[in-house]
Amino acid sequence: MRPDVLTPLFAAVSGLPGVGPKTAKLFDRLLGAEEGGIGARLVDLVFHVPTGIVDRRLRPGVARAPEGAVVTLDLHIDRHRPPAPGSRAPYKIFAYDDTGEIALTFFHAKADWLEKLLPEGERRWVSGRVEWFNGAPQMAHPDHVLPHDRLDEMPAVEPVYPLTEGLSPKLVGRAVAAALARLPHLPEWQDAEWLRQRRFPDFTTALTRLHRPDGNDGQPAQATALARLAYDELLAGQLALAIVRRDLRRRPKPPRTGDGRLVEAVRAGLPFALTGAQARAVTEIAADMARPERMVRLLQGDVGSGKTVVGLLAAAHAAESGGQTAFMAPTELLARQHFRTIAALARAGGLGIAILTGREKGREREAILAGLADGSIAIAVGTHALFQEGVEFRDLALAVVDEQHRFGVHQRLALTQKGRGTDLLIMTATPIPRTLMMSSFGDVDVSRLDEKPAGRQPIATRAVPTERIGEVVGGLTRAMAGGARVYWVCPLVEESEAIDLAAASDRARDLEHIFGPVVGLVHGRMKGAEKDEVMRRFAAGELSVLVATTVIEVGVDVPEATVMVIEHAERFGLSQLHQLRGRVGRGSAASTCLLLYRGPLGETARARLAIMRETEDGFRIAEEDLRLRGGGEILGTRQSGLPGFRLARLELHGDLMQAARDDARLILARDPDLTSPRGAALRTLLYLFGRDEGIRLLGAG
Ligand code: ADP
Ligand code: MG
Repeated sequence: MRPDVLTPLFAAVSGLPGVGPKTAKLFDRLLGAEEGGIGARLVDLVFHVPTGIVDRRLRPGVARAPEGAVVTLDLHIDRHRPPAPGSRAPYKIFAYDDTGEIALTFFHAKADWLEKLLPEGERRWVSGRVEWFNGAPQMAHPDHVLPHDRLDEMPAVEPVYPLTEGLSPKLVGRAVAAALARLPHLPEWQDAEWLRQRRFPDFTTALTRLHRPDGNDGQPAQATALARLAYDELLAGQLALAIVRRDLRRRPKPPRTGDGRLVEAVRAGLPFALTGAQARAVTEIAADMARPERMVRLLQGDVGSGKTVVGLLAAAHAAESGGQTAFMAPTELLARQHFRTIAALARAGGLGIAILTGREKGREREAILAGLADGSIAIAVGTHALFQEGVEFRDLALAVVDEQHRFGVHQRLALTQKGRGTDLLIMTATPIPRTLMMSSFGDVDVSRLDEKPAGRQPIATRAVPTERIGEVVGGLTRAMAGGARVYWVCPLVEESEAIDLAAASDRARDLEHIFGPVVGLVHGRMKGAEKDEVMRRFAAGELSVLVATTVIEVGVDVPEATVMVIEHAERFGLSQLHQLRGRVGRGSAASTCLLLYRGPLGETARARLAIMRETEDGFRIAEEDLRLRGGGEILGTRQSGLPGFRLARLELHGDLMQAARDDARLILARDPDLTSPRGAALRTLLYLFGRDEGIRLLGAG
């Protein structure tokens, strides 16, 4: 149960004065509370971090107002000049002080409202941004207008908030202020000595300072306030993880030992020898699985490094002790692809295998469910459909999750609850920085595939301006005459998927005119079965060119494909380009990647293309990507923060992560069930940041 003291903070934003149902919807969007239907709450509002502050203390007088600066002016209102009827010109109000005259301009404003706000012949304090046009100062839509005797109501400094269409800064500012006014008094959950050391204010002061930076020391104080709150958030995260982990350790899983028989059988059926790195990873995984604690291991390997086979061998190890494996992919396309790749190998090794996605229905589905329940199916390949209600495993020993970052925390939890102590192997091509990893998994062990399979040749990468697309097509004609298979990627460009689709279809048609009926098209809107069929024909060589929107981004494996053409390469991020390029160069033949771009290139786009030409090293590319974009996007999230965190930011608070982790361990060592007064306060902290899943795992309190 959530502590009562938090009730006011968990009230809906729609309960605030001046926030109607329509505005509440906008707040839902702004605060990321659209999904799930709960709607934005006050707690979301007070954690809405300002991006900066406006300082209104500058009062230079009209004549000396710097271009573009926010100033506060003491003005005599001289005359109103409404626009001519039907004109689109602004409503102008001329005003002056001792130093000169300024025009206040308003678009789409009502005359009677302006006459009340700025009556001719009166004095007003006006604050806003000044711009100079041909030697004349103007202020469009002042932020504040106050009667002359009410200057004290003018905020000296004001926070600037991220907004969404339809929400004005004033509305957001007022809502935040109203939410702050309802802040309950909360017990301190942080260690007093630590607060003193870091000069952190208490929680309420920190929140207040974050939103009401005061005049003299605005920015530094605001930064310290944010750091305190970020630390609260990080501690909540680490504490929740520590509680869940401790619970996992307390409930030991059956050790998964094996005699190596099935692993050997599968290995013997492989058409290639394992790389040293693959063999090492398999050994590490088997050793983890043989222990009585649950495994949480990351298998990190660049595109094409051969992660799938490692997952398969881990599944074989699980099967040696009678355990089953769920092999999870983020999309149906990838699930089918995995299935195609490993089904024959698994069966050759004597392992029952099936695929289960939203598409298996009726009898077929019944049969698969029965096989999972009686254990005759050792490996289930699938999407999130694998952990829906009604899917029961006889003994789920291992979950292999491909490209983990596309799965949410909740799905992860649901998955691991399917088995008693299911081991978890996460496969990713993204070298996730340590801080990010700690924030979402706590401690994880990592196996690295730092060695490419033998016989791979470097991919020749070239950047070509779109104007020379004719030459590219000529080159392809020659390559295809020699049997080459080609990916042609059309990016998502427009806001509208329909328009993108049209572009991709047009391209496919153009290419079909040139190359004949060997061109296929896959895109995100196609039905699963249609997509599969096109992919199958391309993999089988019935099609030589596969035009695709970015659906082929992750994981598709057709070793015979040797040419990758990426249109509008300047619009892709670096790691996306790297992922796409990784679809070729998977066999022993030489491969080419052509990055078609439309100039003129911006600085970042130019840098990205240059790096792509320079290196194929995924780690180097990830680093450069981080440098070019900043933190968040490496995990595919848009905002530059830690994924799943609202206040803590990688670049600002990375150093606090370690401290939060140590702190969480110490706390649980001293007060295992959070029953002390500080423990009770920490429970409140967990609820406050929505990290309360673990609380039910604690003893009484
Ligand atoms: P990724 O790590 O990107 O998921 P895959 O598992 O899809 O890579 O493997 C890429 C290709 O390399 C596949 O065609 C796979 O069969 C092949 N492969 C994997 N391991 C080896 C190896 N040791 N030697 C040669 N080819 C391999
Ligand atoms: Mg893969």
